Amino acid sequence: MTAQAVETGELATVIGLEVHVQLETDTKIFCGCSTDVGDDEPNTHTCPVCLGLPGALPVVNEGAVEAAVKVGKAIDATIPEETAFHRKNYYYPDLPKNFQITQYDAPVCQDGELEFSVEGERRSVEIRRAHLEEDPGSLQHKGGSIDTADYTLVDYNRAGTPLMEIVTKPDFRSPDEVRSFLAKLTEVLEYLRIFDATRDGSLRVDANLSIVDLSDVDADEIDASVLDETDPNRTEVKNISSHRGAEKALAYEETRQRNAIQRGRAVEQETRHWDEAKGVTLSMRSKEEEKDYRYFREADLPPLRVSDWKEEIAIPELPDVRRERFREEYGLNEEAADKLTSTKEVADFFEDVAEQFDPDLAATWVADELLGELNYRDMAITDVSDRFDGIERLVELVATDEITTKNARETVLRGMLDDGDAPDDIVEREDLGKTSGDEVQDAVVEAIDENPDAVEDYHNGEGGAINFLVGQVMQETGGSADPGDVNQLLRDELDG
Ligand code: ADP
Ligand code: ZN
Ligand code: MG
Repeated sequence: MTAQAVETGELATVIGLEVHVQLETDTKIFCGCSTDVGDDEPNTHTCPVCLGLPGALPVVNEGAVEAAVKVGKAIDATIPEETAFHRKNYYYPDLPKNFQITQYDAPVCQDGELEFSVEGERRSVEIRRAHLEEDPGSLQHKGGSIDTADYTLVDYNRAGTPLMEIVTKPDFRSPDEVRSFLAKLTEVLEYLRIFDATRDGSLRVDANLSIVDLSDVDADEIDASVLDETDPNRTEVKNISSHRGAEKALAYEETRQRNAIQRGRAVEQETRHWDEAKGVTLSMRSKEEEKDYRYFREADLPPLRVSDWKEEIAIPELPDVRRERFREEYGLNEEAADKLTSTKEVADFFEDVAEQFDPDLAATWVADELLGELNYRDMAITDVSDRFDGIERLVELVATDEITTKNARETVLRGMLDDGDAPDDIVEREDLGKTSGDEVQDAVVEAIDENPDAVEDYHNGEGGAINFLVGQVMQETGGSADPGDVNQLLRDELDG
């Protein structure tokens, strides 16, 4: 590090990720144990294979390979003719075999790419590889954190859950890029229906960060080969389990390393632990190297030919493509298209409604009304999947002018979400059926007769007078008239 760089602060942050995602399959990756462990008692979803007992033989779960191929297609990766498994040897109590079955020189996906946007700007990150492996068991540290606990318990329910490790190139330049990337990755995985973001620990990130001196190299020339040459010391931060956590841990690490460099101290090459509660990264151990793991072929599993099979594995339309199509096909603005493609469930439901009614009306009711009310209640679209028919009926009531938009929004939709009532029941119970034209007309005439002062104000050009009269009519008709219609009727009457 030259003195000049330190003075001018010309340093670049370089980040690369190893993201572990649990794949949603019914059973574990190498045995028939259920992955649906929920809050079940520890060590109740186990068998000789996932406990790593001597002599137990693994069998590959077809569903896990299929999910991995879907990921490969979604990130535009090369999926080789043949993929194979290796043993990664290390001792740790969460893995009683003393090795993890993973992939090494023949991963199922290579050289992919994922586009995302940060503050409106498109960015793209290259994915070096994505491979399948087994999740280890989980450790519960009792009486403290990893370094202070009195003792530690181990639960093998998680052991053998299919994992995909997605390794990016060191293409990120800031912690907030990482956060946006993870959000996009999650969105894509959910579209593929192979990932459940709400599941605890379903996404875990190891984040590598180094600081590069820009007096040696141009900022936009930094790539893997430049990094190989300059070889800045980097840290790998483990134990990150959320998008926000990744951003915070990396921001901490970025500041820590920059401070060290600016004070003329070296950054140690090491593995660090993210302490979410304290908001700091802590040194754990010097970083192990590839050769420490003594990788060798897993002889109990034959190589897997995916070349023909992969053609049959289809993936759905992905969010970016769908967003563009929504804009063109339904004439949606950017904001609406974004909202309506935020999850596959929302997008599917919107298309369903748009086909039956007007797309604009469907967009308003799904993107603004429904998502707004769900957001307010901290609910997800999946929480109301069983009420889609009712919501469609509600849109129909609005489309056919049977109830006012105001009542539909404030009384019917809210009642449906809060109490699970059917729209027609609410309309009947609350007497929301739109008041017939005659009744409204009578109320208009009455309001004019009874409020000569307001009428005079109106004729004197006072803007507020008409609103007062509309309010009178709305009150008279119990809120079931359409305020826009009432306004017009009043004007017709007053100006006529
Ligand atoms: P290792 O063999 O030490 O695990 P890899 O080459 O497999 O290293 O890279 C692991 C992760 O570290 C990748 O996500 C990669 O992008 C990232 N990485 C590599 N070099 C750097 C660097 N100088 N700064 C930040 N991240 C890096
Ligand atoms: Zn098992
Ligand atoms: Mg690595």
